[in-house]
Amino acid sequence: MKWVNHEVVTGVIVYAAVQDPLPALYSMAGAIMPDKLEGNPRSNDYWSWRSRHRGWSHWPMLYLLLLGLQLRILDGGVAAFFDLGNIGVYFCIGALLHIAEDAVCGKVPFITPWQKVGIKLFAVGSVTEYIFSIVVVLLSYMIQAGLVLK
Ligand SMILES: [Zn+2]
Repeated sequence: MKWVNHEVVTGVIVYAAVQDPLPALYSMAGAIMPDKLEGNPRSNDYWSWRSRHRGWSHWPMLYLLLLGLQLRILDGGVAAFFDLGNIGVYFCIGALLHIAEDAVCGKVPFITPWQKVGIKLFAVGSVTEYIFSIVVVLLSYMIQAGLVLK
């Protein structure tokens, strides 16, 4: 999925869930992290990037571990770390949503970094990807507004 769609879909899903712009913003930052960790595909060594593409940087267990650590910080009750923990929680949720979004347009790691799962509903950057993103945004709005799943 293109970064713009990762940002929009992740931000809207989190905003619909918590109705607070800050967590949505934190999750949008996390939504580009798995791809950022891979480096730039337009760098000098495309094949080196390609070999890392959707590898350990897209391993959900890594972000679940980080999410658990952040929740532990929040649970610790140290007020000074509350904002930091909150940012970390939504950052990890953004990364996890990124991975889920990539799993509908290709394969991503699941239980182990090398065992990949996913379905290819559309090609990255295709018109179908943008239509899919619009549908997810509308569904998020409708669920949040109580128009469906009542
Ligand atoms: Zn990705």
